[in-house]
Amino acid sequence: MSGAIAALAIALGAWPLAAQQAPALPFALKAIGPGVYAAIDGPKGEAGSNAGFVIGDDGVLVVDSFYNEAATKALIGEIHRLTPLPIRYVVNTHYHIDHTGGDAVLREAGAIIVAHKNERGWVRTENAHLFGERVTPALQARIAALALPDVTTDAPLTIWLGQRKVEVQPVLGHTGGDLAVRVPDAHVLFAGDLLWRHVSPNIIDGNVAEWIATADAMATDAGVTSFVPGHGDVATAADVKDFAGYLRDLRALVAKERKAGLSGAALVTAALPEFKQKHGDWEAFGYFAPKELGFMDDELAGKKRRPVPVGE
Ligand SMILES: [Zn+2]
Repeated sequence: MSGAIAALAIALGAWPLAAQQAPALPFALKAIGPGVYAAIDGPKGEAGSNAGFVIGDDGVLVVDSFYNEAATKALIGEIHRLTPLPIRYVVNTHYHIDHTGGDAVLREAGAIIVAHKNERGWVRTENAHLFGERVTPALQARIAALALPDVTTDAPLTIWLGQRKVEVQPVLGHTGGDLAVRVPDAHVLFAGDLLWRHVSPNIIDGNVAEWIATADAMATDAGVTSFVPGHGDVATAADVKDFAGYLRDLRALVAKERKAGLSGAALVTAALPEFKQKHGDWEAFGYFAPKELGFMDDELAGKKRRPVPVGE
């Protein structure tokens, strides 16, 4: 509609001003480099996680697809608003449904789904485990129908968007099938759930020893100035250091209580106050922290459950 016609429509009351405004996005879109965008989940968690995208010379690469398909569609709308180039890839940082829920929508929009080799074996089976008793038949059905990736790797992979280079790198710690996405010319790293910025992490599938090593390496990575975490706002190296500190405190507190002879629920009760004193201001602390203490206890006891890679 031309400006003149729009003005006329408004003057005639046919098109109220409010209707002109685009609906609020379920995420905040932030430019973090030339043609590089972070989509940070809204305060109510409407999207389910963070995502982002890279506009290259001949196409667009998306990182993660959110939990809610409505958010994925809104992301596609934003991409089309910024560039006429086609969406060519979506890279999943890991199998969790809050990062893969919109894959089918992106495939429909033209994307090839790229994932860690282990993700393909887990995306339709392990996701139910995340919800425990809260899983419903409808959610089970949704999980069983999640898109399977088209391209899988357990080695570093370079994707060229024309002359623009994007590096996909396996990383250890969160699930056993994680990828980070680096945009070298913009000094950006999409860290997936290897990084949570001031948000307590979900370590249900994690290995904290591996995770601390990964976070330390990220925090000292001279090639990166902006990190896009899986949850929480765009981060700096100092934020990554804080996150590594959170994991170290978790491990130290649990080790201390184990040394005192505690385990299980008694350990969680004993360790929680000091953990809260250190990190109680982190988002979702009340929900995740008790679980984290239990998972950490399992890890130090050598009985932590993790997803097991399945054959192809
Ligand atoms: Zn996750």
